[in-house]
Amino acid sequence: MVNQETVIEINLVNLKKNLAFIRSKVKKKTLIMAVVKASAYGSDSVIISKKLEKEKVNYLAVAYTSEGIELRNEGIKTPILVLHPQINDFNKIIEYDLEPSIYSFRILKEFISKIKSNNNPSFQIKFNSGLNRLGFKNNDIDKLVKSLNGLKPNFIFSHLGASEDTLEKSFTEKQINNFYLTSTLFENKIGFKIRKHLLNTSGILNFSDYQFDMVRTGIGLYGFGNNPKFKLFLKPIISLKTIISQIHKIKKGESVGYNKGFIAKEDTLIATLPIGHADGIYRHYGKGKGKVQVKGKLVPIIGNVCMDMMMIDISKVKCQEGDSVIIFDDKNISAEDFSKSADTISYEIITSLSKRIRRIVIQ
Ligand SMILES: *Cc1c(COP(=O)(O)O)cnc(C)c1O
Repeated sequence: MVNQETVIEINLVNLKKNLAFIRSKVKKKTLIMAVVKASAYGSDSVIISKKLEKEKVNYLAVAYTSEGIELRNEGIKTPILVLHPQINDFNKIIEYDLEPSIYSFRILKEFISKIKSNNNPSFQIKFNSGLNRLGFKNNDIDKLVKSLNGLKPNFIFSHLGASEDTLEKSFTEKQINNFYLTSTLFENKIGFKIRKHLLNTSGILNFSDYQFDMVRTGIGLYGFGNNPKFKLFLKPIISLKTIISQIHKIKKGESVGYNKGFIAKEDTLIATLPIGHADGIYRHYGKGKGKVQVKGKLVPIIGNVCMDMMMIDISKVKCQEGDSVIIFDDKNISAEDFSKSADTISYEIITSLSKRIRRIVIQ
């Protein structure tokens, strides 16, 4: 049976295999934090987190507090790190037993003001080792330890900026050294050892000596490794499929779509698909750049992608209305391959997929 609408298939078998592969790359005692921010990279954070909890990952991570609350409301019990809490979040963070990343003095002050005197909620401290996005730096440590006033972080961590890029190996090594230095300064000042984590997926694959006590994996769980040599082991968990809504025969010289984005050079057979830029297939994929699969053949997206639809050229394929169209899957053209046609990356295409696309779980 072909689905008669646009769907995202979420393959939990692939998720389990990807987790097993990542586990095979880390030491037995290294904890695993699964990053499920942004709807688990465009899939479904509740479905994915429930599965990962069953598979006994040690931690989950989300970007924003509302994402953590959603998981708690769905009964997720695993510790949840909130990577980028905002100033007004701390009542909720404490109420829902979330673990904030404390990355600035402004955030630390607000967090401390919300702590009830007799308890010590879990939190982590983020250091900036060179990405220059979030976190404390070396010269903050004296003031930081004073401001903590005896509160003990569960973990200290940092984030690499180019762990997938083999040409930037020395930059990454510098970040790793910075993290060592900062952690040591911090531990000396505070007077005890604290557990640490640093590596994201590409870090795990390319710099596996620096696992510390935990690793954070996002994109790897979803099936992308930033390096073709891992393609055998990491399988995309999401496939995006749609159907042909309508077929038109157009004559040489006729245009297709808004602003005459495509002009037929000869008589052409085109098909309209029920998916558009509001679903995450941005206009960059139009004008022949992006290609989709119909009956096993690659055909171009033509003209300008519309909000809810786009048109493809099917002149060379025998197909009919209602037939299935694959935009990407775990076999021939992955989301990563598709994203390259618009000069972007797997992370962007999958996290842009809209909520209105129905999700189907494959067990
Ligand atoms: C998103 C994110 C991750 C996950 O990175 P992947 O490359 O998807 O494995 C890890 N750590 C932090 C701080 C992040 O923001």
